[in-house]
Amino acid sequence: MAYKTVNPYTNEVVNEYPDATPEEIEAALANAQALFKKWELEGPETRKAQLHEIADLMRKHSDELAKAITTDMGKLLREAQGEVELCAMIADYFADHSTGLLQSTPIETMATGKAQVKKHPLGVLLMVEPWNFPYYQIMRVFAPNFMVGNPMILKHAAITPGSALAFEKIVHESSAPDASLKNLFLNYDQVSEVIADSRIQGVALTGSERGGRSVAREAGDNLKKSTMELGGTDAFIVLDDTDIDTVADIAWRARLYNAGQVCTSSKRFIVADNLYDQFLAKLRDNFAKVIPGDPLDPKTSLAPMNSKKAKEKLQGQVDEAIEKGANLYYGNEPIDLPGQFFKPTILTDVKPDNPAFSEEMFGPVAQVYKVSSDQEAIDLANDSDLGLGGIVFSGDSARGEKVASQIETGMVFVNNFMVSLPELPFGGVKKSGYGREMYEIGLNAFVNEQLVVTAEHPNMDNLAGGLVATDAE
Ligand code: NAP
Repeated sequence: MAYKTVNPYTNEVVNEYPDATPEEIEAALANAQALFKKWELEGPETRKAQLHEIADLMRKHSDELAKAITTDMGKLLREAQGEVELCAMIADYFADHSTGLLQSTPIETMATGKAQVKKHPLGVLLMVEPWNFPYYQIMRVFAPNFMVGNPMILKHAAITPGSALAFEKIVHESSAPDASLKNLFLNYDQVSEVIADSRIQGVALTGSERGGRSVAREAGDNLKKSTMELGGTDAFIVLDDTDIDTVADIAWRARLYNAGQVCTSSKRFIVADNLYDQFLAKLRDNFAKVIPGDPLDPKTSLAPMNSKKAKEKLQGQVDEAIEKGANLYYGNEPIDLPGQFFKPTILTDVKPDNPAFSEEMFGPVAQVYKVSSDQEAIDLANDSDLGLGGIVFSGDSARGEKVASQIETGMVFVNNFMVSLPELPFGGVKKSGYGREMYEIGLNAFVNEQLVVTAEHPNMDNLAGGLVATDAE
């Protein structure tokens, strides 16, 4: 069975689940479509209290929810608790702001009548989500689309079925209709069938370039709107006037948070030559301090990776990088624990012809590059097919912002950690995908922005004014 929880700390198989049956899929689609028809007639205000209730339930069950993701994919318990709280914040934000953000927009026009753009729900959505933030990835799509009025079907990652069920249970425990969110354990063929179904109007995927390509192709073939939140090789740029002690304390966290398995983890450290040696030494010292162990134990600071497969993939990438000329500055040694641990590793001298230069390494491996000017840092940061996020550090924030604005990514932070909050739009450019989640842009991702032009009385004004195209033209 594809859907399986294997605890990556103990390697124990905790639970297995069969794929969805055709009857379950049909029932989910029919119920979601019926709810869409009901929601079409109601405004977002009617759902506000239900979404706040979902936030409250998440907070109430925080420990149990956090343990479910730690068991599924190994995240440190305190990080899992933080993820639950962030989900509650996202739910509260969209509950509070959606009514205002979904108001009709009046348009000044030469046409006779009052023109406006009204915001209607689009229909039932399929969301395809990854394992690395098992609740947050769902909530980024769920909260805004719940308020818009788009019921959702969830296909979660095969390794996090426990989290999928736990999230669904919270929604079903609240007074929101059950069809607001239905989890289905779909295989890839079933995903294609669901996308092709006429009741599905949109697809939101977060995941890898490979997964995104397949699902976007299916959506395109069926002319369904899609958003793609894909991978990143985010740069962490240290300009020559940066306070090295502060930045060193941020750098290791920016790489090792969630065991390095974050789309916006800093994966390429691009450091001014005057600070390069100090930066490397401090990064190594901080990497050496982390304590691998039980992710439920508060003393642990390095979690296992999500699965044996992910660890083996990363090991293969590191081995190949070294074989093709990269210098191993630190790490790449086994950790003597049964779980899927990967020792934090630092690679330098990664040249453009090395596969590691352009691949996303989804785990605790840092690449460090030396540059001798701001322009060289910008050019190196932009020498990637991916364009998700990035960070720039400088003693002069205006200089940092000037560099930041030349980085070809969807998000960039200056003198700051990357942070994800409901009011900040999240997403990338290039092969990091298209569309944005969160903020007003995410709320509008699957909205029918319907033009309505209303004249007081039936009239011929538009025709008389030459505004109507005729067959002769
Ligand atoms: P993945 O393999 O693409 O999986 C993501 C989801 O897509 C899973 O539910 C997966 O199902 C499904 N999927 C993959 N191929 C599919 C196909 N051909 N048809 C239908 N469904 C398919 O991604 P991952 O490697 O698990 O996740 C890590 C990646 O996600 C990294 O690249 C990371 O950077 C990216 N990410 C991006 C963001 C963002 O917001 N931009 C956020 C987090 C993660 P199965 O599990 O059943 O294969």
